[in-house]
Amino acid sequence: MRKNILDFSYEELVDEFSKIGLEKFRVDQVWDWIYKKHEFDFDKMTNLSKEHRNTLSERFYIYVPELLDIQISQIDKTTKFLWKLEDDNTIESVLLFHPDRITACISTQVGCPAKCAFCATGQSGFVRNLSAGEIVSQIIAMEKHRKVNIGNIVYMGMGEPLLNYKEVVKSVKMLNHKKGKNISMRRISISTVGIPEKIVELAQDLPEVKLAISLHAPNNYKRDIIVPMNKKYSVEEIIQSAKEYQKITKNRVTFEYILIREFNDFVDDAEKLAELLKGMGAYVNLIPVNPVPSSGELKFERPHHWAIERFKEVLDKHNIENEIRREKGTDIDAACGQLRRRYITNKK
Ligand code: SAH
Repeated sequence: MRKNILDFSYEELVDEFSKIGLEKFRVDQVWDWIYKKHEFDFDKMTNLSKEHRNTLSERFYIYVPELLDIQISQIDKTTKFLWKLEDDNTIESVLLFHPDRITACISTQVGCPAKCAFCATGQSGFVRNLSAGEIVSQIIAMEKHRKVNIGNIVYMGMGEPLLNYKEVVKSVKMLNHKKGKNISMRRISISTVGIPEKIVELAQDLPEVKLAISLHAPNNYKRDIIVPMNKKYSVEEIIQSAKEYQKITKNRVTFEYILIREFNDFVDDAEKLAELLKGMGAYVNLIPVNPVPSSGELKFERPHHWAIERFKEVLDKHNIENEIRREKGTDIDAACGQLRRRYITNKK
């Protein structure tokens, strides 16, 4: 059976190629076509002989996700893609345009098992993990469609990266490989709901990759309400693992904190958060929630402007570095998982 060549790491492919009598530099050539020239048809790889191209087509194919829908923000060019995978499942990726670079936000799972109350992805359930090839191909598919060069990658799309650990680590190494996309580890971030043992493992496996933890509340009482996984991994365990991570990597950890009106936007919450992160040299991203329909009693509304500022001032006072994340793509289905959810709903 033919295999998707994108699921192979460079080293694995060197092995595979040697079995069919192709030297290592042939892998370099194929990776150059795929990752740099975005050519997904072996027959068009003109520096390979017809014979080699045939050999490759007999054993491999190149599956790049198919574009189902695209939304481009009129305000800031933020571009959201809905992709179809080989098994007809759908995932999203996003391009974010900054003055000096383009960041890609990619998915790691179809759906998500974490089921955070404010997140549209979890509400559609969990289907399966993505393969390393499916993770990596979001990058090259976006580059090909929009003719851009992606400089930064955040694993912050659909899914919980640390619950698909092996494929995520493999995909990072592939994107970092100098024969492929060649993105520096320091330009890659992984965002997690907070799985303590995996955070420590990540510090050992990918010490240069940046880590963001979706904290969203300063204590277990409040976090339990919006992040169901907190019942398994408490705030204290997560903070402890973040400290270990810092010790091993010397990296600063970013904490994401979604601000929800009259739920976690009070002065007292900010004081508790500052206390929790004291002495860590942490960085806090304050994110006014993207409104999503809520099924329970809690309404996910953005805090008043003054409440956001008030929260920030408390962190400033305690010397906790922070920023209020500027919103992007507010005119398109910006919140995580919304585009896919609408697509699934319409299909039903
Ligand atoms: N599972 C990982 C990565 C995916 S979520 C994680 O939890 O970090 C990526 C980020 O988007 C998280 O910080 C998540 O909390 C945030 N997010 C999800 N829904 C949101 C919403 N409605 N408004 C603002 N941020 C949201």
